[in-house]
Amino acid sequence: MFSDGTTTPAENAALAAREGLAGFALTDHDTVAGWEQAMEACARHRLTFVPGIELSTEEGGFSVHVLGYWCDPGFDLLADECHRLRAERSRRAEQILERLAALGVACSLERVLAHAAGAPVGRPHIAAAMVDAGVVPDVRTAFDLYLGDGAPAYVPKRALPAVDGVRLIRAAGGAAVLAHPGLESRGAGAGTALAERLAAAGLAGVEADHPAHDAETAAFWRAFARERGLVATAASDFHGDRKDARIGERATPVRTIEALREAATAMADPPAAAWSRGRKEATW
Ligand code: AMP
Repeated sequence: MFSDGTTTPAENAALAAREGLAGFALTDHDTVAGWEQAMEACARHRLTFVPGIELSTEEGGFSVHVLGYWCDPGFDLLADECHRLRAERSRRAEQILERLAALGVACSLERVLAHAAGAPVGRPHIAAAMVDAGVVPDVRTAFDLYLGDGAPAYVPKRALPAVDGVRLIRAAGGAAVLAHPGLESRGAGAGTALAERLAAAGLAGVEADHPAHDAETAAFWRAFARERGLVATAASDFHGDRKDARIGERATPVRTIEALREAATAMADPPAAAWSRGRKEATW
């Protein structure tokens, strides 16, 4: 619950252990605040913890999520960008509420912040507050009618261009992976062109298997990865009650995770791995 899921990292670890997984990655939006709890819980359950982040970036006014695994949390430029994004998310939430109000849809900032509970504010928190207020029957309707990309109350985040997001993750010693490329709102062609540019900037992988990808889409992105020497990952994108996915519903084989880590190590000019050495505490 360090971004828009409804479970804590410790609960995720317990669920992962119950599912018989070897480990799990935590990729909260624009924060690494949950790593410590996740790492401790993984140690208790004898799971491997893959530290990650889902960095908000932007391309042509649309949101692009770039996953970063094993980034150095002591890398200032990434920490600074996440601090900036957090403030940006708060500002944007207020703008979205203003747009909703102009559309005659009342939803209070207090309710939204209560759902966020201190985490970076996201559209799912606004959707949940709208359900509370009784202005939509469910979260899906909130996105379909108001909050989804391009919908009337949608406000884009001011974020780095996706290519710079990949470079930033790489500079932080991490492996950059394009999240759910099949959800790219402008269609498969645009997603492919973007992925090509990101690959040229140092992308290590694409999230080919995702609950929102049908079999054909997943196969397309696996082939895309194979042809370009990228790693094809799988993820359940587990969000607790906020999405239907079960933890481990899609899972990345351990050898694929090793390949991803090798790709990161081979590509990066990594700053010291502060997390494992405890050199600098992450506060973001
Ligand atoms: P934000 O970071 O505020 O732009 O919100 C992104 C979050 O909204 C992600 O966790 C998505 O899973 C979620 N999201 C995006 N589109 C939808 C949708 N149509 N229905 C439900 N959740 C969505």
